[in-house]
Amino acid sequence: MKEGISTQVRPQTLDELVGMDHNVNIIKYEIGGSQALGEPLNSYMLVGPPGTGKSTIATLISSMTKRPNGMNSEVHKYLGSDIKEPDDLYDIARNAEDGDVVYVEEAHSIGGGGRKKSEVQAILLEWIENHQILNGASFGLINAPKVCFLFPTTNPGRLASPLRNRCKMLHTHFYKLDDMKEIITRALTKVGIDSNQQEDALTLLAKSSRGTPRTAIMHRIDALRKVMAVDNLSFNLASVDLSLKIHNINEWGLEANDIKYCHAIHRIMLESNGRPVGKNTIRNILGIEPDMIDVIEQYLQQISAIAIDTRGRRLTDFGCRLINVEPIEVSEFVTNIVNPQTRITTEETKESILELIQNGCSTMKEIMPQIGMRYP
Ligand code: ADP
Repeated sequence: MKEGISTQVRPQTLDELVGMDHNVNIIKYEIGGSQALGEPLNSYMLVGPPGTGKSTIATLISSMTKRPNGMNSEVHKYLGSDIKEPDDLYDIARNAEDGDVVYVEEAHSIGGGGRKKSEVQAILLEWIENHQILNGASFGLINAPKVCFLFPTTNPGRLASPLRNRCKMLHTHFYKLDDMKEIITRALTKVGIDSNQQEDALTLLAKSSRGTPRTAIMHRIDALRKVMAVDNLSFNLASVDLSLKIHNINEWGLEANDIKYCHAIHRIMLESNGRPVGKNTIRNILGIEPDMIDVIEQYLQQISAIAIDTRGRRLTDFGCRLINVEPIEVSEFVTNIVNPQTRITTEETKESILELIQNGCSTMKEIMPQIGMRYP
C-alpha cells in the first residue's frame, strides 16, 4: 500500500516551505550560526494555529542539525503531560544526546496541575539555560545533553513566562490565498494531479482550505482525490465543487461546527439587542471544549465573520451573510456601550458629552452614568 497523502507531500527541505521566508531565514542563520560558532542551538517556541507548519519546521530543524560526532540528530517527541515528575525529565535527558531535538507538545501541561509543577519547571529551565539537570540519585546537578527544545503551541499565553523568556519565537500564521494556491499546486503535483489551466478550481480549493495547509492537504485534496477516483473525474471546478458539497463545506471552508457557532452568536445577539457574547455563554450553549472554540474563533476572526473585543464576540454583517441571516440591528444603547469612544451616534448624546467634558468630566467612567449608560 502507498504512503498516506500527508507523508507524500511533506516538505523535505526549507526551500519547499511556502510563504515562510521570514522563518526560513531565521532558521538558516540560527542553525548555520550555531554550527559555525560551535555552540548549541537555542530552544524555540513555535506559535501558530493548528496545521500551519509547526511540526514541519521542527522536523526540518532536526534534519539540518547534527550531533557533535557528525551523525544526524534525533527528534524525541513528548507531550507535556508525559513529564509529571523530575524523574521524567531525567529519563528524557538520559535518552538524548548533544545536538538532538526534544519536541514537547502542550508544554503548558509539564509538571501536571499539582505541587510538582514548579519543581519540574525549575529543573527544565535550568536544563534549557545552563544544560544541567538535577540527578535524582545524588541530589546534585549534573551535565545534561545540549539539546534544542521545541515547544509548539497555539496559545503562548498558556505557557509560563519564564519558559517563554528562555526561548526564541517562531510564528506561523494562516496563509494568504496565493500561498495556499502554491501549497495546493505542489501537493497536487506530488500526488500526480495536473492542475494546469484550472485556475478556478485551484482558487476554490484554496479559499475553502481556511488558510491552513493541513486542511488543504488532509481534508480538501484528500476528499477530492477520492471523489475523482470513484467517479472517474478530472481536476476541475466541477469536481472540486462536488467534493466540497459531499462534505458539506462552503466556499469559505466553513464546516458544521463553524456554522453552529455563528448561529448561536446570532441568536444570543438577537435576544439581547445586539450585545456582544461572552466566551462562557457560547461555551455553555455549544457544549464544546474551550480549545475548540479558540480554533473556530481564530479562523472566523481571520475572515472577519466575527469581531472580538474585551466585551465579547459579535457576528459581523459579513458573518450574517455567510449563514444567510439578516444583519443584526444593534440598539443605539448597546452600540454606545460596545465602543463608547467611536460610536456616539446621536447629536443629542454628543452634545451632552461635550457639555460634561466642558464641566470637567474627563473619563468614560464619569461620563457614561450621567448620560444614562452603564459603565462596564
Ligand atoms: P502544525 O504542527 O502547525 O499543526 P504541520 O507542520 O503538521 O502543522 O503541518 C500540516 C501539514 O501542512 C504538513 O504535513 C505539511 O505538509 C503542510 N505544510 C505546513 N506548512 C507548510 C508550508 N509552509 N509549506 C508547505 N507545506 C506546509
